[in-house]
Amino acid sequence: MPDNDDLEHVFRLAASRALDFRKSLSSRPQRPEMSYDDMRHAFEAPLPEAGQSAADVIEQLADIAEPGLGVMAGPRFFGWVIGASHPVGVAADWLTSAWGQNTGSHLATPSAAVVEETASRWLLELLDLPRECSVGFVTGASVANFVGLAAARHRTLSQLDWDVEGHGLFGAPTVNVVVGDDAHTTVFSALKYLGFGYERVHRVETDAAGRIVPSAFQAVLDNIDGPIIAIAQAGQISTGAFDPFDDLADRTHDRDGWLHVDCAFGLWARACPDRAHLTAGLDKADSWAVDGHKWLQTPYDSGFAIVRDRDAHSRAMTTDASYLPQITEGQRNPSHFVPELSRRARGFATWAMIRHLGRTGVADMVSRHCRIARNMAARLAEESGIEILNQVELNQVILRFGESDELTQAVIDQVQEDGTCLVAGAKWRDNWVMRISVISWPTTDEDGDISADTIAKIWRGIDTP
Ligand SMILES: *Cc1c(COP(=O)(O)O)cnc(C)c1O
Repeated sequence: MPDNDDLEHVFRLAASRALDFRKSLSSRPQRPEMSYDDMRHAFEAPLPEAGQSAADVIEQLADIAEPGLGVMAGPRFFGWVIGASHPVGVAADWLTSAWGQNTGSHLATPSAAVVEETASRWLLELLDLPRECSVGFVTGASVANFVGLAAARHRTLSQLDWDVEGHGLFGAPTVNVVVGDDAHTTVFSALKYLGFGYERVHRVETDAAGRIVPSAFQAVLDNIDGPIIAIAQAGQISTGAFDPFDDLADRTHDRDGWLHVDCAFGLWARACPDRAHLTAGLDKADSWAVDGHKWLQTPYDSGFAIVRDRDAHSRAMTTDASYLPQITEGQRNPSHFVPELSRRARGFATWAMIRHLGRTGVADMVSRHCRIARNMAARLAEESGIEILNQVELNQVILRFGESDELTQAVIDQVQEDGTCLVAGAKWRDNWVMRISVISWPTTDEDGDISADTIAKIWRGIDTP
């Protein structure tokens, strides 16, 4: 067992290496220095026979890993819609690891359990969702989608006297799942895990921005007999668009259905007075999936499954055994709202980030990111041959360069090689597009300007046929 000197040495060493890395983020290329293939060589080693000292292991790990790290916490990282692991969240997460709390029981770790209760209340107020909702602290929106839809499945089938947790779906009444054509891929993953099948769904036509078309939604409902679970979206990953929730919620509830919303990043617009209008009616839904590790900037992994019907939520998720404590009236066991029993105490980093930013800090950050996205789009739209394909209402910009997909990809490749900023590509409708996601806490207006100018310069230098 390491003595206290070792402990001190290894923790300080980790902190010092972390500090060096974080201090380099603004000046280093906003991409890994070494490729996946390089890293395979770098990590290649036989199974160690004998052990090695704690400090040597950490030193070696940092030496090998750092060149192959993505610069996802950097100020000019626009590659995907992900956050940038804020230092306060990281520090809280270090404590979480150091404290070593298994968050499977409220009585075994009162702090980890109760911090989730406080963080839940703060989240519901910050995001202006019904205060009676229950919140499960999960790995991210993928699992939050799964949990929300599991709660939906529970309530839908229990209303038909079918115990889906006990008896599964064999012989169960048919449940109709309705989903927009531009839903996130993890929604389909959740449907796959839940036995609904990602192909056995009613897909609804979307408009040019990826929003569900209400009349098409109604037409689908009119053709369905039996119970309905509908899935909407706040923040389409390419366009940033929001579904018309008010309308969809009313239509779903008229049929006694359940509306789940995948709002992995878009829900945070609700915490920002100048963007909140985009989320009108979102509070009418029955469940929501949202990420902490996106706009709240908590370190990975962190997401929240929020469900209005607390009973459906916990019945879909509760794990029970004789050696696990029972809850009494008014208590909340953290493991009753997530799929895992043993897990890290995610509430601490969430608490720390909300405590650090406060309501105004979250609002200002979201507002700033949306402004930067708008300004980048405006700057790039001035260049001939660059076309902005979405209305920039949130933090997402999609653009196309010249006439072919190849030209767009060539610009993306050269921007990545240059390293000033990181952008990536995606397919949108029939085109290959560059996607810019402004969602990292360190990104300033100046970072946006520098990056837009770099992209424009690279585009001007490309040989167009
Ligand atoms: C990121 C995202 C997800 C998946 O979330 P993870 O954090 O990767 O689990 C789902 N839906 C949308 C709209 C997203 O942006």
